[in-house]
Amino acid sequence: MKSRYDVIVVGAGPAGSITAKTCAEAGLEVLLIEKRQEIGDPVRCAEGVGKDALIKHIKPDEKWIAAEVKGSKILAPDGTEIKMSGDASSKKVGYVLERKVFDRALAQKAALAGAEVMVKTRATGLLRNNGKVTGIKAMYMGETCDINSDIVIGADGVESKVGRWGGINTALKPGDIDTCAQFLVSNIEPGEYSKFFLGEKYTPGGYVWIFPKGEHTANVGLGILGSRSGNIRAISLLHRFIDNYMPQAKILEIVVGGVPVSGPIKQTVTDGLMLVGDAARQSDPLTGGGITNAMDAGKMAGDVCIKAKEIGDFSGKILKEYVDKWRESIG
Ligand SMILES: Cc1cc2nc3c(=O)[nH]c(=O)nc-3n(C[C@H](O)[C@H](O)[C@H](O)COP(=O)(O)OP(=O)(O)OC[C@H]3O[C@@H](n4cnc5c(N)ncnc54)[C@H](O)[C@@H]3O)c2cc1C
Repeated sequence: MKSRYDVIVVGAGPAGSITAKTCAEAGLEVLLIEKRQEIGDPVRCAEGVGKDALIKHIKPDEKWIAAEVKGSKILAPDGTEIKMSGDASSKKVGYVLERKVFDRALAQKAALAGAEVMVKTRATGLLRNNGKVTGIKAMYMGETCDINSDIVIGADGVESKVGRWGGINTALKPGDIDTCAQFLVSNIEPGEYSKFFLGEKYTPGGYVWIFPKGEHTANVGLGILGSRSGNIRAISLLHRFIDNYMPQAKILEIVVGGVPVSGPIKQTVTDGLMLVGDAARQSDPLTGGGITNAMDAGKMAGDVCIKAKEIGDFSGKILKEYVDKWRESIG
């Protein structure tokens, strides 16, 4: 690890890895840090993505595709079912990923493009000079260090601190976040469609999902809106759903996590700093899906970093181009 880079990216999720790859491909010196010891693990995701949105960024690889789906079935509270398939011929339109492998593959793309990747390295604060962000304070294996850069990218997910350190209001109210619980279950026949169950009888302010994950397995989960949960726990509602609708299911894995459903926050850049992905609350507030929005935003942020480097100006005024780009598309 050097003491200075052009770009430091905090967080090696889809947003961070795509930003790092984009910048490294253009010859910028990039450091991508990840606080966890394994990129992509533990998973906090139902792993569903649309094919078209994904293949803009990466060629599909069977190593990280757990299953392909033909579309979605949406079940209304009275049991009415609406089938949404992308195509009348019913060809497969979506993937259920193996994110442990997928996230690592994305980070590998960044590494192959020339980015330095450091795991078990946590950003603990920002360095500043005259108000401008000039790098990060980090901790690697219990040792602290300062690393300088022209720009810091906060790709640190739903729990983002980078934005707050940079003076950006990233606070989420209880009504802005769905608390989710998910089981990877076996002993079921998931079919070829993703299923969504809507209605208070399943969960208030959220929905239940069943995403096929290959033979006899599926991700089954739900989200509950923070402002409407009271004393109800997401995991208790999920156990109730499993008991009622798939009592034969065996639970192989438990996932818990939060999904921002606020819509994007007002400010996502400041001098020497950009926020991307869940850190900028760019997930879709209707579905909670955020993987491909994070990748789109990462690409846009990377492209703007390259321009800023060319002109030697990383001020918020220049970085505003990133804001305009993502607001116009995913905003
Ligand atoms: C239960 C659940 C189900 C979901 N299902 C879907 C789905 O089916 N489809 C979909 O599209 N989206 C889904 N999402 C949302 C999706 O997971 C996120 O939108 C997506 O992962 C956002 O990518 P990201 O790169 O912004 O953040 P993340 O993937 O969260 O990556 C952020 C990374 O930053 C690291 N980090 C954090 N702080 C620091 C620090 N201080 N220093 C260094 N590293 C740090 C974290 O360890 C993490 O690896 C789901 C979310 C949940 C919780």
